[in-house]
Amino acid sequence: MANECIFCQIIEGKIPTEFIYKDEEIVAFNDINPQAPVHILIVPVKHIPTINVLEDNDLPLIGKMVAVARDLAKSANIAESGYKLIFNVEKGGGQEIFHIHLHLVGGW
Ligand code: 5GP
Ligand code: ZN
Repeated sequence: MANECIFCQIIEGKIPTEFIYKDEEIVAFNDINPQAPVHILIVPVKHIPTINVLEDNDLPLIGKMVAVARDLAKSANIAESGYKLIFNVEKGGGQEIFHIHLHLVGGW
């Protein structure tokens, strides 16, 4: 965990946020600045700064994040119409929060 990390603070309840999904490994919540009618962030509890430093033993966690995204897309009724799952990586890839997260965007 990193004290200055916004997503760690959200996970710890220091920044009030409504969770759409929460278990011991993963949380999901609406993006504060949505880029689509549905824009959900799927975030691991573990503070991993970028996909570039992901370790092989974190791979099951990434699979679980994708499964949570799949289930949330179905709950949001965008499974059939379609959606994008996006990891932004490093500043050049559009990453602003250095705690990995999967964007689920759709509902256009
Ligand atoms: P990135 O650009 O790092 O891939 O995505 C970070 C996302 O986090 C952005 O889409 C931004 O709108 C969202 N975000 C930043 N701060 C907050 C916050 O405090 N609460 C929520 N819900 N989303 C945030
Ligand atoms: Zn963090």
